[in-house]
Order: sequence, then C-alpha cells, then structure tokens
Amino acid sequence: MLYKEIELAIAEKKAWALRRQLGIPNNRQLWVLACMDERLPVHEALGIKEGDAHIFRNAGGVVTDDAIRSAMLSTNFFRTREIIVLNHTECGMMTACGDFIQRALEEKGIDVENLPLDPGLPELHLEPGAFPRWIKAFTDVDEACLKQVELLRSSPLIPKDVVIHGYIWEVESGTLRRPYERLSERVNTAEAMSTDRDPHHLLQPCSEEEEGAREIKVTP
Ligand SMILES: [Zn+2]
Repeated sequence: MLYKEIELAIAEKKAWALRRQLGIPNNRQLWVLACMDERLPVHEALGIKEGDAHIFRNAGGVVTDDAIRSAMLSTNFFRTREIIVLNHTECGMMTACGDFIQRALEEKGIDVENLPLDPGLPELHLEPGAFPRWIKAFTDVDEACLKQVELLRSSPLIPKDVVIHGYIWEVESGTLRRPYERLSERVNTAEAMSTDRDPHHLLQPCSEEEEGAREIKVTP
C-alpha cells in the first residue's frame, strides 16, 4: 500500500526535523572537533555522512572555551558518547605565533588587551598578557592533536565515559592517520623500511642465487 510508504516518509521527516525536541541523538552519537581549513573534508576523512555527528570547527581544531561549551552540551544533553579530534598537516596555526599575531593587530590599531573577546558576554576577559596564548598557535600537529585529546579528557564538563580519540588528515596524501604514525617516512629508503621491523613479518632473506632477483615474501 502506498500510504504506508508515505506514512514512513512523513515519520522519518518528522524525526529529522524534530530531533532535538524528540531527544534523538545524531546517528553516531559523535562530536567532532576539526580545523576550519578548506582542505579538511571532515565527512570524507571520517567516513561519515550528514546527520552522523555534531561538528565543531575552528582555526586549528583546538580546544577553546566555545569548543568546551559545545562538547559539554552535546555529551551531557544530546546523548553523544564519542569525541574525535581531527587536525591536519600544513595547518595555518603552525605558520605564526601568538606574539606575532598580537603585534600585527596592534599595528592595525587594535588594542587587544582592552577589547571584549565575546561582544555578547563582556564578562569574559583575559588576564593581561594572555592574548597570544588565546590564539593557540602550535608548532607540531601530532603533538597538538594529542594535547587536544588530553584537554578534552581532563575537562570536568565532559563525562568521563565519553570515548575520545584524535587523528591527523594528511592534506598531501588525502589520508587519515594516527598522531606520529607518519607512514610516508617509512617507505622511501631501505633504512626507513628496516626500523621497528617485526621479526615475524620479515621478508624472506635472499639466497646467493636469488641476489638481483629479489622476491618479496611476507608471512601472514
Ligand atoms: Zn588548520
């Protein structure tokens, strides 16, 4: 009967449109912290689709007061059970430091020590000299990724049973990896290929007659 299909479509549309009112979490019960960079395709990188996650993006994909605010709401009130931090290589936050940015703004006539950070909440202010740290530039994306995970795990506003992990999107290869697992550094030289080799997965050693006709055999 056609009416059954119509009723199902109406129910699905209602569940989509009234998700928050009906207490329906996002599909994956997932909150994502990601950099705003245009080369970071969050859905593609994580293999998720529209409706799967709450996605928070800012410069660097770093933990800020607003990131904590959003994660707090998602995990405490919208049934989110998992957080993924998504940073990326060649991030703009590694091209300048906070001091440089403060000086550049001051040269433009902006007094960063005396301005509202959030025009909607003038009570929110920084201690003198804290502006450069508020910028949250970093020098190593792998280190930064792990740090964001740690910061989220240590936040009293995020429940302890929320599962939190961090990953790096390589803009140069279009692949996702764990922090510090730079596979590209292990594939171009014999020396790199011999590091941390698992003895149970060694290539078969060449016999005298096989020299020059090296065959690769990898045991399972
Ligand atoms: Zn970035």
